[in-house]
Amino acid sequence: MLGPPGAGKGTQAGRFAQARQVPRISTGDVLRQARQANPDLDKQARATMDAGRLVDDDVVIGIVRRRLAEPDAREGFVLDGFPRTLNQAEALDHLLDDRQPLVVVDIEVPDTTLLERLQTRRICAKCGMPATAVLAVCSACGGPLIARGDDDARVVRERLRVYEQESRPIVEFYRRRSTFRSVDGDQPQDAVAADISSAVASVLGAR
Ligand code: AMP
Repeated sequence: MLGPPGAGKGTQAGRFAQARQVPRISTGDVLRQARQANPDLDKQARATMDAGRLVDDDVVIGIVRRRLAEPDAREGFVLDGFPRTLNQAEALDHLLDDRQPLVVVDIEVPDTTLLERLQTRRICAKCGMPATAVLAVCSACGGPLIARGDDDARVVRERLRVYEQESRPIVEFYRRRSTFRSVDGDQPQDAVAADISSAVASVLGAR
């Protein structure tokens, strides 16, 4: 699932994964959990995330390679936040050599909506799921809801800049493929979920 920060990738990837009974694999969640478990683990990755920049391709490609090899990912999975560079997109093609089709859904949202969403969003400190409404605790696991450190206004601007520079070219990389679909993310959550479901069905049904 592709889209800029704040497009709703996490929420929609979570909903889709739950509906299809496949894991949602979020490289951002894996990185946040790793730093929570061991704050000294990788100071460089930590500083990079805090600044809204991208962690090294090798690190995230390694995370995805290991995660895709786990048994629960055998029948399918939803990738959330990966790939984010052309290098990662090419690595993913190699990782999925015999596991096609890779269905690519790009969630499109105007910049003004993104900024508004990022400044008000909350995620679960325990399971990483974005809050889907103004709630006191996570609706998935009951964990506490917190603002993400990198949703701070200055870091948000940097993340959007990095998205335009590093990640936007991936959309063009996939757009030529018959497995690519784009979805309007500037609608109510249920409508976006329905559009994603039809988009994926239209790719899988056509094969
Ligand atoms: P996310 O939760 O997907 O917004 O990711 C949070 C942060 O983790 C990003 O701003 C990056 O610093 C890092 N990160 C997550 N996924 C990737 C990726 N595929 N490539 C590089 N850095 C990533």
